[in-house]
Amino acid sequence: MQNHTGEHILSGILHNEYESENVGFHLSDNTVTLDTSRYLTEAELLELEFKANRAVYANLEIRAEYLPDEELERLEYRSKKEIEGAVRIVTIGDIDKCACCAPHVHHTGEVGLIKITKAIKWKEGTRIWFLCGSRALEYVQTVFKNADEVARLTSEAPDKIADGVKRFNETIQSLKADLFQAQSGLMEEKIRNISDIKSDVILFESISNSKIQRNAVNALVERFDGVCGVFSTEDNTSYQYIIGSKNRDCREVGRFLNEKLGAKGGGKPEMIQGSVAASREAIIGALKETLDI
Ligand SMILES: [Zn+2]
Repeated sequence: MQNHTGEHILSGILHNEYESENVGFHLSDNTVTLDTSRYLTEAELLELEFKANRAVYANLEIRAEYLPDEELERLEYRSKKEIEGAVRIVTIGDIDKCACCAPHVHHTGEVGLIKITKAIKWKEGTRIWFLCGSRALEYVQTVFKNADEVARLTSEAPDKIADGVKRFNETIQSLKADLFQAQSGLMEEKIRNISDIKSDVILFESISNSKIQRNAVNALVERFDGVCGVFSTEDNTSYQYIIGSKNRDCREVGRFLNEKLGAKGGGKPEMIQGSVAASREAIIGALKETLDI
C-alpha cells in the first residue's frame, strides 16, 4: 500500500506539473517502476522527488468514493482505461485524483520516504525506479553502508566518495603508465642481450600489457630471421602468446600448437596470437619439434 500510494503521489505531480503521464507501472517484491510519457531531466527528477516527499510531510487525507455519473462527467481525473459501471475515485489532497479500486493508506504520512533509486530514458519518456516507506529506508541503509565502506577505503567523507574514487583511478592510470615504461625498458634490454646463435627465439614473460608483448615480438622479428614468440603468463599454467616471423608462415606454428597442446588462436602468415593452457616445459617441448630453440 505504501508503494502503490507513492505511485499515486508521483503520478499526480507528474500529471499536474510536468505534463507527463504514467503510461506503465510494475510492482514486484523488490522493485517498483513507473514509465512516463515525457522524458524527465535529472533536475526534474530531483525536484519531483522533493515534491512527492513534501506531499508526505503534509500528511494529506486520502479519500476513496464512488461518484454518480453526472458528477463524474464534470470531474477531471486520471484514468488508465474507460471504466464500465461505478467508478471509484481516489483523491489525495490537491495532488491526485484517479480512478482506482486498489487499497491505499489513509494519509500520505503513512507512505514514508519516497526515494527514486534509478531512472533511464524509456521510449519517449523515462522509466523511474522508486521505493516507499520501509523498503525505501532499507535501500538507503544499504547504499549508505556501502558509501561508508568506500569512505573508509578512500579516506573521504561519505558524501565526497566520488572524489576519492576519481583520485584512486588517476593513481592507477599513472602507475599503469609507469609499469608500461618499466616493462618496455626491461624487454628492450632483454632482447638486446639475446645471443645471435639461434634463428628461432621464444621468450616466456609476465607482461601486464599486450602492447609491450607485441612491441617485443616486432623487435625480435627485426633482429632474427626465424620464428619469434613471446608467451606471457600470470599464473604459469596458461599463456597468451604472440608469434611473428618475416620468413616463415606463423599459421603453421599456430596449427602445431593447437594440435599438440589444444591451444586456441590464429592470425596472418606474418603474425599470430592466441592462448594455451599448458606449462612452460610442455610448450618448449612441443615447440622443439618444429622450431630451432
Ligand atoms: Zn490506487
